[in-house]
Amino acid sequence: MIMKKSLLELNESEMTELMRSVGEPTFRARQLFENLYSGKSFDDMTNIPSALRDKLKINYTDIPAKIEKKFFSKDGTVKYLFSLDDGELVEGVLMTYKYGKTLCISTQIGCRMGCVFCASGIGGLKRNLTSAEMLAEIITVNADNACGKDRAVTNVVLMGSGEPLDNFDNTERFLRLISAPYTLNISERNISLSTSGIVDGIRALADTGHKFNLTISLHAPCDEIRNKIMPINKKYDIAGVISAAKYYFEKTKRRLIFEYSLIEGINDGAENARLLCKLLKGLPCHVNLIKLNSVKGKNLRASGNDDIKEFLSILNTGGISSTLRRIMGVDIEGACGQLRRRFAGCNDTTHSDKEGEQPQHTGV
Ligand code: SAH
Ligand code: SF4
Repeated sequence: MIMKKSLLELNESEMTELMRSVGEPTFRARQLFENLYSGKSFDDMTNIPSALRDKLKINYTDIPAKIEKKFFSKDGTVKYLFSLDDGELVEGVLMTYKYGKTLCISTQIGCRMGCVFCASGIGGLKRNLTSAEMLAEIITVNADNACGKDRAVTNVVLMGSGEPLDNFDNTERFLRLISAPYTLNISERNISLSTSGIVDGIRALADTGHKFNLTISLHAPCDEIRNKIMPINKKYDIAGVISAAKYYFEKTKRRLIFEYSLIEGINDGAENARLLCKLLKGLPCHVNLIKLNSVKGKNLRASGNDDIKEFLSILNTGGISSTLRRIMGVDIEGACGQLRRRFAGCNDTTHSDKEGEQPQHTGV
């Protein structure tokens, strides 16, 4: 199916140029941005002449994602299932904190990185999301939580399904667009990108001159373990990832975040914690420990609470700032990639139903 481009793909100069090319005054560009970024479809843009809307409809679509379903948690977390113009489904999760609302969005349908603990990679990569589709995840959630002029979403994390740096061009365009003053104007400080360690992408992101927060999914203190659980490590080993992370810090001065999901008997031993201390010593970073979310059929289990406590304490006494990530949304459907798979009819891979094994829902 060939999809029409969404008008949301356009930046300020492209929209202005488009208006010029159809003989419209340039202020229409600003009007279109206001309409689009408040979630309006062409039919609802009543301040735009209908002749212009009809002209635009020939080559462009408006908002390319719709909210298909919502799941509410007792702790206020809301999980969204979005449908896209070609019928594909993606997920996002809205979390409420004291400082605002964080939306975790997807960047691809599926993922080709094949990490052994992750549900998103199970069916491989289906397709990349466009920048407009990523924007539409935020815009539809804003519209769904509209309260006057205030937008609901204050922070964005790229931690849903997909590897954002494996979809670099669309992701970069998306990041530039949401942080632009004429769109959602979300500060770069409030945007985080999580990667499995695509070294070239990390360096390229640093070179854009933007200062987004960078999270690296490390999950192992040495190549021997990481090769077993994250195939991408055979292409970009830990030394390469750490060196790219340092480069990112030098360019942006943003403290690095490392994600480390504790998997029983694989990466959770005291010796692994000590190795991790050595590896990260001197790096301006924080380690987020996560209790693994068991994925059915994967035969991997979350570490026990005592092992997690010991791991955490070795890191902290070893001078590595670290916390166990707070689990939110435990009573709604499991982590991101899993929800899409369930609705796409792939029941066999859904999460364990045991409450204690539910994920921090920002994981895929
Ligand atoms: N592809 C990117 C971003 C999406 S994954 C990345 O890998 O970083 C978001 C986070 O969820 C990553 O840290 C990932 O390692 C973690 N994750 C995936 N499956 C998980 C599981 N079953 N349990 C705990 N964390 C998981
Ligand atoms: Fe892809 Fe991230 Fe899942 Fe790995 S953890 S398979 S990179 S989405």
